[in-house]
Amino acid sequence: MTERKTLSFRESVNFMVDRAMAVLNIDPCIANAIKSCDSTIKINFPVEINGKLEVFTGWRSVHSNHRLPVKGGIRFAPIVDEDEVEALAALMTYKCAIVDVPFGGSKGGLLIDPSRYNRDDMQKITRRFARELVRKGYLSPATNVPAPDMGTGEREMAWIADTYKHLHPEDINYLACVTGKPVAHGGIRGRTEATGRGVVYVIREFFRHPDDLRRTGLSGDLSSQKIVIQGLGNVGYHAAKLLDEEDQCKIIAIIQRDGVLTNDNGICVEDVRQYMNEHKTIKGFPDAKYSENAAAGLEIECDILIPAAMEAQIHVNNACNIKAKLIVEAANGPVTFEADDILRKKQITILPDAYVNAGGVTVSYFEWVRNLSHIRFGRMERRHDELHGERIVKALETMTGNPADDWIKKELIHGADELDLVRSGLDDTMRNSFLQMKEAMDSNNKIKDYRTAVYVVAINKISRSYLDIGVY
Ligand code: NAD
Repeated sequence: MTERKTLSFRESVNFMVDRAMAVLNIDPCIANAIKSCDSTIKINFPVEINGKLEVFTGWRSVHSNHRLPVKGGIRFAPIVDEDEVEALAALMTYKCAIVDVPFGGSKGGLLIDPSRYNRDDMQKITRRFARELVRKGYLSPATNVPAPDMGTGEREMAWIADTYKHLHPEDINYLACVTGKPVAHGGIRGRTEATGRGVVYVIREFFRHPDDLRRTGLSGDLSSQKIVIQGLGNVGYHAAKLLDEEDQCKIIAIIQRDGVLTNDNGICVEDVRQYMNEHKTIKGFPDAKYSENAAAGLEIECDILIPAAMEAQIHVNNACNIKAKLIVEAANGPVTFEADDILRKKQITILPDAYVNAGGVTVSYFEWVRNLSHIRFGRMERRHDELHGERIVKALETMTGNPADDWIKKELIHGADELDLVRSGLDDTMRNSFLQMKEAMDSNNKIKDYRTAVYVVAINKISRSYLDIGVY
């Protein structure tokens, strides 16, 4: 028997897109144009670490520039390569289209184990990588705007913005060259939590649709669901914390690289995070059972499984053992194409990555707009809205002859600040995109799953843009 070659991440994404293209019966030339990666740059650069030169390798891929700038995170990871960066760049193209963010898709990666370097070394390496990207035309507010991803955060984004500013001091929009910056350096409130919060908005929207719940085999409201989450990093932590604290779900398992914590009565996410910060491991956390078999955590019986760590976690060898009713792909590419097929046969519902984790790029878009307009959202209206609220309270009190209750005053005399506006814009985006995905699925009986539905939505929008402007 010939051994079947495992698909690469990029092939996996392309096969999933092909399934949607087959439903759409799209012109093969347009299909090819949409799928092909525009360009990928590989950069090797030396940095002096402890008196010795070390050579680092990084990539930045532009999948599609039918809209500019192109957008996508930069990951720093000990395992990253060209195939992965191209797959992630392609996902960004579809993701932006799904949530109506007017960007093309891009992604970057640097081959590095950040835990091996101190802060000063990381700064030197990040700045040098950024300088190379600027020089080669892969970093600018108008054409290519990175953001955080695995292994990077607002610290790295601040260094990147500062490096660009030094190379282009005349560019008045320099802050818009990267998103996910600290608020004090041109970032937007709510960006750090955005991807995880977006995941929760998706789940909440899903629970507003009884027919979708029924198809999935879920019953009861969100608070009665048992959840397993893999990865308590940026995305996983914010998603799990909200589900635990605001939605009162039971987080029955938390999977990290070094093992899995389980507790059928629920685990306090914030306590685990504090414990991890202090001990650099989940082992020994007092209020849950620990096992070092992290992989088995994915196979725990639960209502909702949220893979929020990295790609290819559910694959051909473990897909048959998955017992969740709903998989919410918070990470990029956590389910391989082969596993996706197995899970579909098992009638396990998947809410796909290209939609589920698009909250990050959505709020990045808000940050980019804020940087270009050079003003914080809400700065002009907030006080005005509060005065308007005060007038309504006064009118109510005059009409009733009684003082308004404090909670009514608080609700009415509240002008939206930047965080309120960002969260509202994010919620609106995730809800609208859900409805578009659902509409695609309900109106075409060839579409049997949400992944195909979101790609159909994305491809329709992208191909329209190709046809409108032509391809030159
Ligand atoms: P992160 O580095 O902050 O966190 C990743 C977490 O997963 C860490 O806690 C790590 O210990 C854990 N992890 C890694 N490998 C694991 C494994 N094999 N088993 C169990 N746990 C493992 O990264 P992040 O920014 O939270 O990104 C997570 C995923 O979400 C990635 O796929 C990324 O591409 C995607 N994503 C991130 C953003 C964002 O805004 N950060 C946006 C969209 C998509």
